Amino acid sequence: MKKFATLLLAGVLSLAMMLGLCACDSDHVHVYSQDVITEATCKSGGKVRLVCQQCGDTRIIDMPVVPHSFTVWEVETEVSCTGEGLWTRHCTMCGLEQTGVIPARGHQWGEWKIEEATCETKGMMSRSCNNCNEKEVEVIEALGHVFSSTFTIDKHPTKTEDGMRSRHCMREGCNARTDEEVIPKLAGN
Ligand SMILES: [Zn+2]
Ligand SMILES: [Zn+2]
Ligand SMILES: [Zn+2]
Ligand SMILES: [Zn+2]
Repeated sequence: MKKFATLLLAGVLSLAMMLGLCACDSDHVHVYSQDVITEATCKSGGKVRLVCQQCGDTRIIDMPVVPHSFTVWEVETEVSCTGEGLWTRHCTMCGLEQTGVIPARGHQWGEWKIEEATCETKGMMSRSCNNCNEKEVEVIEALGHVFSSTFTIDKHPTKTEDGMRSRHCMREGCNARTDEEVIPKLAGN
Protein backbone atom coordinates (compact mmCIF):
# COMPACT_ATOMS: atom_id res chain seq x y z
CA MET A 1 0.00 0.00 0.00
CA LYS A 2 2.91 2.31 0.80
CA LYS A 3 4.36 1.66 -2.64
CA PHE A 4 1.03 2.44 -4.21
CA ALA A 5 0.81 5.74 -2.33
CA THR A 6 4.31 6.65 -3.52
CA LEU A 7 3.41 5.89 -7.14
CA LEU A 8 0.29 8.01 -6.87
CA LEU A 9 2.25 10.88 -5.40
CA ALA A 10 4.78 10.65 -8.25
CA GLY A 11 1.88 10.75 -10.69
CA VAL A 12 0.37 13.82 -9.09
CA LEU A 13 3.72 15.61 -9.00
CA SER A 14 4.43 15.02 -12.70
CA LEU A 15 0.92 16.18 -13.49
CA ALA A 16 1.48 19.38 -11.51
CA MET A 17 4.75 19.99 -13.39
CA MET A 18 3.06 19.67 -16.74
CA LEU A 19 0.27 22.01 -15.68
CA GLY A 20 2.82 24.51 -14.47
CA LEU A 21 4.77 24.33 -17.74
CA CYS A 22 1.81 24.78 -19.95
CA ALA A 23 0.51 27.67 -17.86
CA CYS A 24 3.68 29.63 -18.82
CA ASP A 25 2.94 29.90 -22.54
CA SER A 26 -0.74 30.73 -22.38
CA ASP A 27 -2.81 33.59 -21.06
CA HIS A 28 -4.88 31.55 -18.67
CA VAL A 29 -4.44 28.80 -16.18
CA HIS A 30 -5.77 25.61 -17.76
CA VAL A 31 -8.65 24.04 -15.99
CA TYR A 32 -8.65 20.41 -16.97
CA SER A 33 -11.45 17.98 -16.81
CA GLN A 34 -10.38 14.42 -16.42
CA ASP A 35 -11.51 11.51 -18.51
CA VAL A 36 -10.33 7.98 -17.93
CA ILE A 37 -9.51 6.30 -21.23
CA THR A 38 -8.12 3.09 -19.79
CA GLU A 39 -8.43 2.12 -16.17
CA ALA A 40 -5.11 1.23 -14.57
CA THR A 41 -5.10 -2.36 -13.32
CA CYS A 42 -2.63 -4.65 -11.62
CA LYS A 43 -1.65 -5.96 -15.07
CA SER A 44 -1.20 -2.76 -17.01
CA GLY A 45 -1.11 0.98 -16.58
CA GLY A 46 -4.02 3.18 -17.56
CA LYS A 47 -4.44 6.33 -19.54
CA VAL A 48 -6.24 9.51 -18.54
CA ARG A 49 -7.18 12.27 -20.95
CA LEU A 50 -7.07 15.84 -19.61
CA VAL A 51 -8.94 18.48 -21.58
CA CYS A 52 -8.86 22.12 -20.70
CA GLN A 53 -12.40 23.35 -20.50
CA GLN A 54 -11.41 26.78 -21.79
CA CYS A 55 -8.98 26.17 -24.67
CA GLY A 56 -9.36 22.51 -25.40
CA ASP A 57 -5.69 21.75 -24.66
CA THR A 58 -5.48 17.99 -24.39
CA ARG A 59 -2.97 15.84 -22.57
CA ILE A 60 -2.79 12.10 -22.23
CA ILE A 61 -1.38 11.02 -18.91
CA ASP A 62 -0.10 7.51 -18.24
CA MET A 63 -1.27 6.04 -14.95
CA PRO A 64 0.92 3.53 -13.19
CA VAL A 65 0.07 -0.10 -12.63
CA VAL A 66 -1.82 -0.52 -9.35
CA PRO A 67 -1.09 -3.27 -6.82
CA HIS A 68 -3.10 -6.48 -6.83
CA SER A 69 -6.29 -6.26 -4.85
CA PHE A 70 -6.30 -9.46 -2.82
CA THR A 71 -9.20 -10.96 -0.95
CA VAL A 72 -8.63 -11.95 2.66
CA TRP A 73 -6.90 -15.28 3.19
CA GLU A 74 -9.37 -18.14 3.20
CA VAL A 75 -8.69 -21.57 4.56
CA GLU A 76 -8.83 -24.13 1.79
CA THR A 77 -7.59 -27.16 3.71
CA GLU A 78 -7.94 -27.25 7.48
CA VAL A 79 -4.70 -27.79 9.32
CA SER A 80 -4.57 -30.85 11.57
CA CYS A 81 -2.19 -32.35 14.10
CA THR A 82 -0.11 -34.05 11.46
CA GLY A 83 -1.25 -32.50 8.17
CA GLU A 84 -0.46 -29.12 6.73
CA GLY A 85 -3.29 -26.76 5.97
CA LEU A 86 -3.61 -24.50 2.97
CA TRP A 87 -5.01 -21.07 2.58
CA THR A 88 -5.50 -19.08 -0.55
CA ARG A 89 -6.35 -15.59 -1.65
CA HIS A 90 -6.84 -14.16 -5.08
CA CYS A 91 -6.71 -10.81 -6.79
CA THR A 92 -10.21 -9.57 -7.55
CA MET A 93 -8.93 -7.78 -10.65
CA CYS A 94 -6.75 -10.32 -12.45
CA GLY A 95 -7.57 -13.54 -10.60
CA LEU A 96 -3.96 -14.19 -9.57
CA GLU A 97 -4.07 -16.81 -6.85
CA GLN A 98 -1.66 -17.12 -3.96
CA THR A 99 -1.37 -20.13 -1.72
CA GLY A 100 0.06 -20.26 1.77
CA VAL A 101 0.95 -23.30 3.83
CA ILE A 102 -0.16 -23.55 7.44
CA PRO A 103 2.28 -25.82 9.24
CA ALA A 104 0.87 -28.90 10.99
CA ARG A 105 -0.08 -28.08 14.55
CA GLY A 106 1.41 -31.13 16.24
CA HIS A 107 -0.50 -33.18 18.77
CA GLN A 108 -1.84 -31.53 21.90
CA TRP A 109 -1.05 -34.24 24.38
CA GLY A 110 -3.09 -34.56 27.54
CA GLU A 111 -1.69 -35.73 30.84
CA TRP A 112 -0.10 -39.14 31.10
CA LYS A 113 -2.42 -41.66 32.71
CA ILE A 114 -0.43 -44.17 34.66
CA GLU A 115 -1.36 -47.73 35.57
CA GLU A 116 1.32 -48.64 38.05
CA ALA A 117 3.38 -51.75 37.46
CA THR A 118 3.51 -54.29 40.28
CA CYS A 119 6.13 -56.87 41.18
CA GLU A 120 4.77 -59.33 38.66
CA THR A 121 2.58 -57.41 36.21
CA LYS A 122 3.51 -54.76 33.72
CA GLY A 123 2.11 -51.27 34.04
CA MET A 124 1.20 -48.81 31.34
CA MET A 125 1.47 -45.12 30.64
CA SER A 126 -0.85 -43.63 28.08
CA ARG A 127 -1.83 -40.21 26.88
CA SER A 128 -4.20 -39.00 24.21
CA CYS A 129 -4.23 -36.03 21.90
CA ASN A 130 -6.92 -33.49 22.75
CA ASN A 131 -7.53 -32.74 19.08
CA CYS A 132 -7.51 -36.13 17.39
CA ASN A 133 -7.75 -39.73 18.47
CA GLU A 134 -4.04 -40.41 18.49
CA LYS A 135 -2.89 -42.29 21.58
CA GLU A 136 0.58 -43.01 22.87
CA VAL A 137 1.20 -46.03 25.04
CA GLU A 138 4.34 -46.90 26.94
CA VAL A 139 4.78 -50.11 28.83
CA ILE A 140 6.28 -50.05 32.30
CA GLU A 141 8.15 -53.26 33.02
CA ALA A 142 7.14 -55.35 36.01
CA LEU A 143 9.12 -54.21 39.05
CA GLY A 144 10.22 -57.59 40.41
CA HIS A 145 10.04 -58.58 44.05
CA VAL A 146 12.23 -57.04 46.68
CA PHE A 147 12.59 -59.71 49.32
CA SER A 148 13.55 -58.78 52.82
CA SER A 149 16.94 -60.06 53.90
CA THR A 150 15.46 -61.22 57.17
CA PHE A 151 13.00 -64.02 57.72
CA THR A 152 9.48 -63.55 58.96
CA ILE A 153 7.92 -66.27 61.03
CA ASP A 154 4.73 -67.23 59.25
CA LYS A 155 3.73 -69.93 61.72
CA HIS A 156 5.15 -70.44 65.16
CA PRO A 157 6.10 -74.04 65.90
CA THR A 158 4.28 -75.77 68.72
CA LYS A 159 5.04 -78.98 70.50
CA THR A 160 2.82 -80.82 68.07
CA GLU A 161 3.24 -78.93 64.79
CA ASP A 162 6.14 -77.60 62.78
CA GLY A 163 6.36 -73.90 62.18
CA MET A 164 7.20 -72.03 58.98
CA ARG A 165 9.34 -69.05 58.09
CA SER A 166 10.09 -67.21 54.87
CA ARG A 167 11.37 -63.97 53.42
CA HIS A 168 8.59 -61.60 52.34
CA CYS A 169 8.49 -59.14 49.48
CA MET A 170 8.73 -55.64 50.95
CA ARG A 171 6.67 -53.92 48.31
CA GLU A 172 3.34 -52.67 49.50
CA GLY A 173 0.41 -54.85 48.46
CA CYS A 174 2.56 -57.83 47.46
CA ASN A 175 2.19 -61.12 49.33
CA ALA A 176 4.99 -63.03 47.66
CA ARG A 177 7.29 -65.11 49.81
CA THR A 178 10.52 -66.96 49.14
CA ASP A 179 12.88 -69.35 50.89
CA GLU A 180 10.08 -70.96 52.87
CA GLU A 181 11.60 -73.08 55.60
CA VAL A 182 10.19 -75.43 58.14
CA ILE A 183 10.83 -74.62 61.78
CA PRO A 184 10.93 -77.95 63.60
CA LYS A 185 8.28 -78.51 66.29
CA LEU A 186 9.34 -77.67 69.77
CA ALA A 187 11.13 -80.29 71.81
CA GLY A 188 9.64 -81.65 75.02
CA ASN A 189 6.12 -82.68 75.78
ZN1 LIG B 1 -6.57 25.98 -21.36
ZN1 LIG C 1 -4.21 -8.60 -9.79
ZN1 LIG D 1 -3.55 -34.98 17.50
ZN1 LIG E 1 6.65 -58.42 45.30
